[in-house]
Amino acid sequence: MSLINDCVFCKIIRSELPCVRLYEDDLVLAFLDIAPFNLGHSLVIPKQHHHSITTLPEDCQGRLMAVASKLAAATLRSLKADAFNLLLNNGSCAGQEVPHVHLHVIPRFLDDHPIFNPAKQQYKDQAQMQETADKIRTKLGE
Ligand code: 5GP
Ligand code: ZN
Repeated sequence: MSLINDCVFCKIIRSELPCVRLYEDDLVLAFLDIAPFNLGHSLVIPKQHHHSITTLPEDCQGRLMAVASKLAAATLRSLKADAFNLLLNNGSCAGQEVPHVHLHVIPRFLDDHPIFNPAKQQYKDQAQMQETADKIRTKLGE
């Protein structure tokens, strides 16, 4: 983690690159995504440069979600959206292109295009489901 970074979102925070700002406070900045899934698609980012949500301090994580929630409510009301997606791509194979934590707030409409692949996996039995949960729980305290 460092406070100064050359990534595109850090440049936006420092006003070295333009953006259409929606909200700013001491911890986060929100602005319109330049290539939206739907018009009004916005991004909420922490002012500290972190690649992953997992290293972001808890107060920033909390503010990120609180602001995204308010922004989602305002987006619903102002754009008459039917729903929204809150999306965080964490890591390149999860689709993260900009290596600076960001929450997408995507307005959704009854007749719009799907943005997720609906293919899902299945646990082979209850034991495999329990083993998977045990592995995750073991690491929760670390
Ligand atoms: P990711 O795939 O990393 O989760 O999403 C990155 C998002 O950032 C994309 O939706 C992309 O359109 C947006 N983005 C990338 N560069 C810029 C930029 O310079 N300005 C703005 N406003 N959005 C950007
Ligand atoms: Zn950055």
